[in-house]
Amino acid sequence: MKLRDSNIKRLQAESFDVLVIGGGINGAVSVAALAARGAKVALIDARDFAGFTSQQSSNLVWGGIKYMEGYEFGLVAGLCKSRNELLDSFPSTVKEIRFLMTLSRKFRFHPWIIFASTWLYWLLGRGKTRTPRLLSMAQIRESEPLIDTSDGRAGIEYSDAFLHDNDARFVFNFVRSAMDKGCAAVNYIESRGAMRDSVGHWKTEVKDQVSGNTFTIRSKILINAAGAYVDQHNLLCDIDTRYQHLLSKGIHLIVPQISENHRVLAFFASDERLFFAIPMANRTCIGTTDTRVHNPETEVSDEDRDFVLSNINARLNLAKPLQPEDVIAERCGVRPLAALKASGNSLDVKHMSRKHVIEVTDNRRHISIFGGKLTDCLNVGDEICEQVAQLGIELQPARKWYGEPDAQTRTEFFRRAHAMGLDEIVASDTHEALSERLWRRYAANANSMLDAIEKDATLAEPLLEQAGIRRCEIAYLAQHEMIVKLEDYLRRRSKIELLMSREILQKSAGLKEACEQLFGNEAQQRMDEYFN
Ligand SMILES: Cc1cc2nc3c(=O)[nH]c(=O)nc-3n(C[C@H](O)[C@H](O)[C@H](O)COP(=O)(O)OP(=O)(O)OC[C@H]3O[C@@H](n4cnc5c(N)ncnc54)[C@H](O)[C@@H]3O)c2cc1C
Repeated sequence: MKLRDSNIKRLQAESFDVLVIGGGINGAVSVAALAARGAKVALIDARDFAGFTSQQSSNLVWGGIKYMEGYEFGLVAGLCKSRNELLDSFPSTVKEIRFLMTLSRKFRFHPWIIFASTWLYWLLGRGKTRTPRLLSMAQIRESEPLIDTSDGRAGIEYSDAFLHDNDARFVFNFVRSAMDKGCAAVNYIESRGAMRDSVGHWKTEVKDQVSGNTFTIRSKILINAAGAYVDQHNLLCDIDTRYQHLLSKGIHLIVPQISENHRVLAFFASDERLFFAIPMANRTCIGTTDTRVHNPETEVSDEDRDFVLSNINARLNLAKPLQPEDVIAERCGVRPLAALKASGNSLDVKHMSRKHVIEVTDNRRHISIFGGKLTDCLNVGDEICEQVAQLGIELQPARKWYGEPDAQTRTEFFRRAHAMGLDEIVASDTHEALSERLWRRYAANANSMLDAIEKDATLAEPLLEQAGIRRCEIAYLAQHEMIVKLEDYLRRRSKIELLMSREILQKSAGLKEACEQLFGNEAQQRMDEYFN
């Protein structure tokens, strides 16, 4: 039986300690942490895992240098600590990267103040990364001739970290690790609300968006990790909270690679917010914006697109300014920001704290997760375990529930991959060896791909060359990664959709072959659904 079907059967038949609503980063780390400590957990998402805000981030794992302007030093120190822990625990996925920030003559702070701030940031980050550096205009021109220095005053280089693959893949790996420890996780299952029965257990009414079937899931505790929909879901469950979400929209545009230098270019945009051009494989991801919205469902407007393109064009010396036609893909999401209901609805989202808040309704054994960041995810996982234990679920003693497999497993994988010649198979765009790539994306699960290649060497051949995908990955994905729609694969388990234009993708023979393995008889239907 397929993984999704068997997990649905478990949702229907079993009773859980905890049911988590929402498989974005907050829900994913909650189940990963709880499952690792022996709780019996279930996770549902109305869409695909990471199918909402958690697929729309800037992919930065960072202390949030910009929050220092609001004197949020505690938040920055905490985020830097989380960043450092993620750097240590996921060395293949979370990587240090240099940021080159150019300051204009009109900028509100003198470069020395910014330079001193980057040193303070470095200290708050416990000196984990390379030290900051002050650059003259001549040094900027030399190291990045692309930057328009005509209005520049100075540049500062400092370090933070980013997600090498993407946010959605990072989230899915937490869901996968929870499933490996017994969690019943299913995508495309929408909660229609929950109520408590006579013995105080939650009964959540859900609808399977694929089959249309409805059923009930039983759990002792309910965790609402529905992101921008937390307030809406609390209304459905008659839960009253002190906090609520205010929403801020942010967009990114993906364009052909603008610089071969692997670093983030940072500027202050016309609204004086930090604005980035971030490397994404052989593309560049530019953004973002910060606009108050009231509806979680958003899309990129002409105004957003103009804002991003005009800001980047004004700061770079490109041979031809970037035009809307150059955009390969667009990303648009809403940040759910935690706000006390008592503060009202008129707060300025640009200046609101990005702190997460975990609000427990003890007498109903209900937990709501407000706000947060991908960078903060390990703290959310730990705090959820504490709260669940306080609500009476017996957990095994605290231990590390995240991170790549131990050094011995890693060494053994690379020894085997090296012997099979996978170090010599190098991606044409990113120059990364196949062995590195498989480990980074699948960790110890990539051993099954080595087994497959040993039996059939053609499985190491490229399937979607432009996106670096090899034949051996598809059989594994079909069995273990709960891909329901083609978009789940192209946008979230991989980032193919962000790297290749739809026209090229549609003509790709490799995609057809991948679909046949992923969807069997339904391959054509899934392709039509996606492209139409
Ligand atoms: C433009 C932008 C840039 C950002 N950049 C960064 C960055 O660089 N670094 C960083 O650390 N953070 C960044 N963030 C913040 C970060 O992305 C978010 O804080 C985080 O992804 C929110 O995760 P979440 O789990 O709360 O919400 P989501 O990812 O939205 O997850 C909630 C899930 O709940 C599901 N759901 C809702 N209702 C129901 C229901 N009734 N039944 C079942 N499921 C339901 C949804 O489908 C959704 O998948 C950025 C955010 C934005 C918008």
